[in-house]
Amino acid sequence: MGALPHVDTSSSATNGANGGSRTIKSWAPATGDLLGEVRVSTKEEVFAAVARARKAQAAWGVLPVEERCERLLRLRDALVERADEIVDVVSRECGKPRHDCLSHEVMITVDLLTYYCKNAPRILAGHDIGLHLLKHKKSSLHYAPRGVIGVISPWNFPFVIPMGDVVAALVAGNAVVLKPSEVTPLSIQKAKEIFDGTGLPEDLFTVVYGYGEAGQALIESGIQKLVFTGGVETGKRVAAACGANLVPCVMELGGKAPLIACADCDVDRTARAIVFGGFVNAGQVCISVERVYAHESIHDDLVARVKELTGALRQGDPQGDATVDVGAIIFPKQIEIAERHIEDAVAKGATVLIGGKRRAGPGQFFEPTVLTGCDHTMTVMKQEIFGPIVPIQKVGSEDEAIRLANDSHLGLNAYVFTKNREKGKRIAQRVEAGSVCVNDVLLNYAAAEAPFGGIKQSGFGRVHGEEALRDMCDARHVFSGRVPEPAADPLWFPYSNKAYRWQMRMLRAVFSRGSIVKRIGKLF
Ligand code: NAD
Repeated sequence: MGALPHVDTSSSATNGANGGSRTIKSWAPATGDLLGEVRVSTKEEVFAAVARARKAQAAWGVLPVEERCERLLRLRDALVERADEIVDVVSRECGKPRHDCLSHEVMITVDLLTYYCKNAPRILAGHDIGLHLLKHKKSSLHYAPRGVIGVISPWNFPFVIPMGDVVAALVAGNAVVLKPSEVTPLSIQKAKEIFDGTGLPEDLFTVVYGYGEAGQALIESGIQKLVFTGGVETGKRVAAACGANLVPCVMELGGKAPLIACADCDVDRTARAIVFGGFVNAGQVCISVERVYAHESIHDDLVARVKELTGALRQGDPQGDATVDVGAIIFPKQIEIAERHIEDAVAKGATVLIGGKRRAGPGQFFEPTVLTGCDHTMTVMKQEIFGPIVPIQKVGSEDEAIRLANDSHLGLNAYVFTKNREKGKRIAQRVEAGSVCVNDVLLNYAAAEAPFGGIKQSGFGRVHGEEALRDMCDARHVFSGRVPEPAADPLWFPYSNKAYRWQMRMLRAVFSRGSIVKRIGKLF
């Protein structure tokens, strides 16, 4: 079989007021097999799911955080126990190697859940805030669950991306309604099946299926926060809809990760990192190595090694063959995008060092491709590829590499390779990205403690780490007194000339340069 429809838009009946239903079919990109189908949720069903979630949350959110964590560890245990089933579904539905599914989809989810369950009591504990001016008062901050969290997720990591958000939301005391990508509904159906087998309240985590309309319905449903992961153009529409409904949102959008190969890099490790970072999951990773800036002194050696390693990659249907490195491309459009980038780059002077073509079916495959002689006139250096292409540009200095790395509307991940780790960290400070790895690729996503997210048009807000967990809550400021409050507060009515003069003296005493209060350093 050649190109697959993958997303089936043909309705078995019409959706909406007449009560008919549409279905989404899920196809295996590596074989063309039909894997299953799900029913598209109507707007009314999305609203009803949120209403049920709200009821479930009312009981869940008042449990002590320790108890919630204890109960959620049952989910962790079930995910570990049933890891093979998850790998089966995700591997077939995405056409990605089982190895990737285990380490990227299952392991990171399980680790994040473990980290949050272990640390949430500390992270979400209320704490005092020292007040520098209002010394007679006392402030404390408390974290209260927001309510129902909406999650809208993409197809490229159909398990770990949504489940990371789901576990953070649940640990923090919320309920979740998730709309997975229409391209990979079965992966999350498996997650829901496992969740329901743990005895946790069913409505605490609900899945609704569908296309953009179902996502739009979720935004309009009265949720307290949305975590969206997807492309930049969709992200703009989703952020606008969140604005119209005043729904706080996290936007995890596209990437164009640069890799800077310094003159003093370890050429072999750098080449291996480029090949892994560029071709894992067939390049369909928001933090894939999407462009390489190689210092002229190591450029030729690096390119030669990258070519050799790319040529050794084994591509094919990963089912039943654990040695496949690179799997399939999710749907035909991604192949067409790859072809357009290559055509544009070659027309402007780039060379196809290796790869460059789609492979014959069955299934959808595109050869791991390396382009050399690239520059910023080419779309392949400026726009997200999201496919197995690594374009390489030769640079004369590290400053030039940094300037080019920052010449992008995106800023999710970036990579620096140098044997001098301190220099690597210095360069990392100058690269405009949410995360920068020195001598590594992609692995920062697995650091449960560290925030992950983008700057520029790669989005805003963060997932993972302490900040993301706290952001699943409303921060409640409780303000009280240290001393008995007088009946007549000097700052309240009635105003008087005397009170005004007193305030003026206070202002000068506290804020004038060289004031007595300042000199004794009591306040500032
Ligand atoms: P996409 O933007 O096409 O779809 C993402 C989700 O948004 C899907 O569930 C889709 O149904 C939904 N959606 C579409 N229109 C909507 C609307 N109007 N309202 C509400 N929801 C709507 O993205 P995709 O093709 O599934 O994923 C690939 C993109 O995701 C790439 O650009 C990639 O870089 C990005 N991505 C980012 C991260 C990150 O963490 N920053 C991670 C993975 C993928």
